[in-house]
Amino acid sequence: MAGFDVIVIGGGMAGVSIGYELAADRRVLLLEMEQTLAFHTTGRSAAMFLESYGGPAVRALTVASRSFLESLDVLAPLPMLYIGRAGRGPAVRALHDAVCTLAPTVQLLDGAQAERVQPLLQHGAVEAALLEPDAEEIDVHALHQHYLRGLRERGGSVRTTAAVESARLRSGEWQVSAADETWTAPVVVNAAGAWADDVAAVFGARPVGLQALRRTAFIADAPPGVSGPLIADVDDAFYVKPERGRVLCSPADETPQPPGDARADELEIARAIEVINEVTTLDVQHVRSRWAGLRTFAADRSPVVGFDDTQPGFFWFAGQGGYGIQLAPALARTGAALVRGESVPSDVAALGLSAAAIAPTRTR
Ligand SMILES: Cc1cc2nc3c(=O)[nH]c(=O)nc-3n(C[C@H](O)[C@H](O)[C@H](O)COP(=O)(O)OP(=O)(O)OC[C@H]3O[C@@H](n4cnc5c(N)ncnc54)[C@H](O)[C@@H]3O)c2cc1C
Repeated sequence: MAGFDVIVIGGGMAGVSIGYELAADRRVLLLEMEQTLAFHTTGRSAAMFLESYGGPAVRALTVASRSFLESLDVLAPLPMLYIGRAGRGPAVRALHDAVCTLAPTVQLLDGAQAERVQPLLQHGAVEAALLEPDAEEIDVHALHQHYLRGLRERGGSVRTTAAVESARLRSGEWQVSAADETWTAPVVVNAAGAWADDVAAVFGARPVGLQALRRTAFIADAPPGVSGPLIADVDDAFYVKPERGRVLCSPADETPQPPGDARADELEIARAIEVINEVTTLDVQHVRSRWAGLRTFAADRSPVVGFDDTQPGFFWFAGQGGYGIQLAPALARTGAALVRGESVPSDVAALGLSAAAIAPTRTR
């Protein structure tokens, strides 16, 4: 049985990022059940960086991630426009009030201003809008590869086709078995995305009540020259992201599902096309490709990060929801600090994040 300091379960963005951070001073083994890493949610995202998105913990972690993402050169500007249709101006103003402290460059617009900023909008379709000029697109593949390469360079090991199926605690060491092999480590990091509650059960830990919600996305043709900002309905009815001469669209669906290989929902796609054609001049007729992924949330939609209160050495790193790419750098640094028994990094704490706000015990 090969021994490590930390075994990380899951090779999506969560697993590779915390694995990289911990490999700075620990021997790390990362186990992934699929043949390739990033096969599930990480490979299926809309790749946006939005400092206005999510609750206070998520926004703090996102803001704290910007400088690292900029240093890697994986961001490209793509402003974001939240739109409120008839009667939804108050919802846009409420969003502005909630996010303007951490994202001070956001601007409230009326319908006419919104149409000037994004000419794809149908005349008169929007009552009010919120522009986030500093939103960005993330090169998800480059970020995942950065962490994976760095993990290996720091001496970490990665095993694919290794679904963790059993574990037992012996003299303070977890014996973790997958694919007919067993490895040991005193600390196990549960970065299994939609499967995190199932993985906890393997270690005898109580679930924290994660819910996987399917989200569908599709690519449609767009008129020549189409460009940002991304348009997102403030009530989450749809979003449209201009992307290299096409548009990535989503019904912003949130359908509860058991963990698995999520499939696009055709009815949701049809519903989204109807609204998108009402609100924009895109006239979507044909879907080029479609997919879906599982966004996995705790009840309060903040990540679940910290040691389990019943199983020694079992560390939760889950519940990244719809934000697991944009907040990965700060969440990985925070998670690694908590694994080492340190406090939340000072720059992240200064933005208002406490260990209690993300602790697994808060969910019980
Ligand atoms: C349509 C869509 C759009 C999105 N848009 C954005 C966006 O714009 N910006 C953003 O920041 N986020 C976005 N997200 C969310 C983001 O993609 C996720 O938060 C993030 O990818 C979660 O990463 P993860 O590593 O936790 O999960 P995953 O990528 O799912 O990784 C978990 C891994 O654990 C493995 N695993 C599970 N069980 C076991 C086991 N027993 N043994 C070994 N391995 C196991 C799985 O195979 C999987 O590879 C979006 C998601 C979707 C679906």
